[in-house]
Amino acid sequence: MSFEQSKRLQALPPYLFAEIDKKKKELRAQNIDFVDVSIGDPDIPAPQGVLDVLYEASKIKGNQKYALDAGKPEFSAAIKKWFFSRFGVKLEEGEVLPLIGSKEGLVHFPLAFVNPGEYIIVPSPGYPGYRGAASFAGAKVYELPLKASNNFLPDLEKIPAKVCEKAKMIFLNYPNNPTTALADMDFLKKLVDFCKKHNIIIAYDNAYSEVYFDEKPHSILEVEGAKDIAIEFHSLSKTFCMTGFRVGWACGNADLVKGLLRVKTNVDSGIFGAIQDAAAYALEKEMPYTDELRGKIKARRDFFVKGLRKKGLKAKADSTFYVWVKVPKPYGSIEFSQKLLAQRVVATPGIGFGKYGEGYIRFAMTVDIPVLEKALDMINIGK
Ligand SMILES: *Cc1c(COP(=O)(O)O)cnc(C)c1O
Repeated sequence: MSFEQSKRLQALPPYLFAEIDKKKKELRAQNIDFVDVSIGDPDIPAPQGVLDVLYEASKIKGNQKYALDAGKPEFSAAIKKWFFSRFGVKLEEGEVLPLIGSKEGLVHFPLAFVNPGEYIIVPSPGYPGYRGAASFAGAKVYELPLKASNNFLPDLEKIPAKVCEKAKMIFLNYPNNPTTALADMDFLKKLVDFCKKHNIIIAYDNAYSEVYFDEKPHSILEVEGAKDIAIEFHSLSKTFCMTGFRVGWACGNADLVKGLLRVKTNVDSGIFGAIQDAAAYALEKEMPYTDELRGKIKARRDFFVKGLRKKGLKAKADSTFYVWVKVPKPYGSIEFSQKLLAQRVVATPGIGFGKYGEGYIRFAMTVDIPVLEKALDMINIGK
């Protein structure tokens, strides 16, 4: 028997990372050695203290039962405390919602507020999950260009009036994957004003708030009045190298949080209590781990960017785990990634993040310096 997938699934662009995984599998099957600098999943183990708390907490009977959809009060309290000390923003009752990773929340969120045919504004290049989210909600996508000439911030004034009128929601993400750009308070204020004027919900993805080097990233909720219109997504995945744990949270406008909770109540049945205990512990006690993580990523970035420059490649690497590189002429981003693949280096073509990612390639500093050195040795632009 054969089953045709739904139109909803058929409309999805091929998931870039799945395509790359397929290529890697092929190489492995042929016993061909390669260097993988494509994946946003750090090689560094999660904090030992988190593992200890997780183990102990898993023995508690209460944690072995269905958790509350709204999350454990202890975890929400730890989030509130952390958020205030990090951003100076007070989160009130009903303004915090634990998630099974931020992607889960980001993708479910439009189902709560966007009707079929309405627009969702999605950054391009941008995290592929936003597109999937829009597609599941039956929304139309407006691809908002992030250009080097504007420091990879969008030019909001250039969004067509028709789109502004019909847009229900905008996804934005700074520190930005894949461009590594940061958003300053000036931009965030403009964004809040713009979205209030056009009645557009802001879904602000702050998954990399703690992966920075020089400038400290902001929360959109630092902007006065942002809570009227914005929800922000956070994750323990990148901050504590806990990608596999699947834990994060949404916070901001109480009605937006409530809508997301209502969707989730119909989809999942809470987050394993022991994971929530471990996550609360991480926020309370493991920030020194994150300081160290930043140092490690910075050393890798400095090493890799220097190597690329020697090859004449221009790199941007202001935050996150990534290095965003302009592909040399005459290559396109797919072509260049295939050239690297032939040299046994796996990197991510910019076009996989949307059409305005064309002309770029992304390297991930999720492997240690000796591996990066090997990659640099293998990359030969001229050949
Ligand atoms: C990694 C990532 C996420 C998702 O992280 P979770 O593991 O689902 O919490 C969300 N947004 C961006 C931009 C990411 O790179």
